[in-house]
Amino acid sequence: MLIHALNPHECREVLGRSDLGRLGCARFDQPYVVPIHFSFDSDRDCVYAFSTVGQKILWMRENPKVCLEVEEIRDKDHWTTVLAIGRYQEIHQSPEEAEARRRAEQLFLQRRGWWLPAAAKVTGHEHPDVVVFRVQIDRLTGRRTINKNG
Ligand SMILES: Cc1cc2nc3c(=O)[nH]c(=O)nc-3n(C[C@H](O)[C@H](O)[C@H](O)COP(=O)(O)OP(=O)(O)OC[C@H]3O[C@@H](n4cnc5c(N)ncnc54)[C@H](O)[C@@H]3O)c2cc1C
Repeated sequence: MLIHALNPHECREVLGRSDLGRLGCARFDQPYVVPIHFSFDSDRDCVYAFSTVGQKILWMRENPKVCLEVEEIRDKDHWTTVLAIGRYQEIHQSPEEAEARRRAEQLFLQRRGWWLPAAAKVTGHEHPDVVVFRVQIDRLTGRRTINKNG
């Protein structure tokens, strides 16, 4: 088995056909990784996501340097993984950000039940505020296995 490094175009193809990734953020040298759904915007080179306010949002507000890992794994010999390194940016309900918000919502609507599980209630927790955010991509890397026998 060989491992091939994807070029940025191939990385974007993977992001474009995926909607689930692992979002990593960090605060005070402590990493934190959670699965999230996202929508890739190839025109603006960013991914949009939706969340209630909880640990990840509070941490990303303090330290906007984040990483999104996206994977297509069949088994240990057949996989593709992409890492998007970027910056967390909240998209507010303001006239200046109306266009970005519209774009995000447009892309969310292409996914059935797009607000779940982000907006699902955790027993005993109240998260009244919701946030739309993007990860503005600064760097993309990807790797894929190559197998002679398919
Ligand atoms: C397939 C899938 C898709 C998802 N899509 C989204 C999405 O689009 N947007 C979104 O906001 N969330 C999504 N979630 C849920 C997400 O993974 C987090 O559980 C959730 O967002 C809460 O994160 P938080 O940082 O706000 O934690 P909080 O609610 O603030 O919880 C605090 C503590 O709970 C623990 N915790 C939080 N989440 C998890 C977890 N998943 N597993 C184990 N422990 C946990 C952590 O230790 C953390 O310290 C998805 C989950 C799955 C499985």
